[in-house]
Amino acid sequence: MTNGKDRLAEARRSSGASGCVECGRCVAVCPMAEMYTNFSIEMSPRGVIKKTLTGDDVIMDKNIWYCTECNAGTDMCPQGVSCRDLIRALREIAIEEKVVEDIKYCTRCGKPFLSIPVKNFVFDRLEEEPPNVLNLLGLCPVCRREIYMLRNAQVL
Ligand code: SF4
Ligand code: SF4
Repeated sequence: MTNGKDRLAEARRSSGASGCVECGRCVAVCPMAEMYTNFSIEMSPRGVIKKTLTGDDVIMDKNIWYCTECNAGTDMCPQGVSCRDLIRALREIAIEEKVVEDIKYCTRCGKPFLSIPVKNFVFDRLEEEPPNVLNLLGLCPVCRREIYMLRNAQVL
C-alpha cells in the first residue's frame, strides 16, 4: 500500500512541481486574489508549490483548501507545472491521511472540502449579496467558482 510520503512524492512528480522557477505567472492569473480578502502568497499557487517542495507538512496546511481548480495558472506556466493537479492531489492525501478536521461534503458535487475558507469567503466578501448567497457555505471551491461563472453570465 502506498503511504502518504510516497503519494506526496508522486504528486510532486506528476504535477511537475520541481520545475517551478518562481516566475509568478500563475499567481498573476489566479482568481483567488479576487475571491479572498485574506489572499496571501502562502495560499497562492506559487506558495503552495514552494511549501510542497520544502516539506511534507503541506498536507496539513489550510492554504491548500482555497484553490478553485480553475487551471488558469497551469495554462500560464512556462514550466508546465500544474498547480491544479498538485493541489487536487494534496487534498486527496490530506483527507485519506485524516490530517484535517472540519471536513464538509459539497451539497452540489458531493466531494469533501475544508469549510473554514468557505466561511471566510462568504462572510468577509459577500456580506452585501442576496440571502441565497449563504447556500454557498455548502459548496466546495470548485462548485463555487462554477456557480459564480453562471451568475456572471446571468444564467442564474
Ligand atoms: S507559473 Fe509555473 S514556474 Fe511560474 S511560479 Fe507558477 S508554477 Fe512556478
Ligand atoms: S488551479 Fe487553483 S491555484 Fe491554480 S490558478 Fe486556479 S485557483 Fe489558482
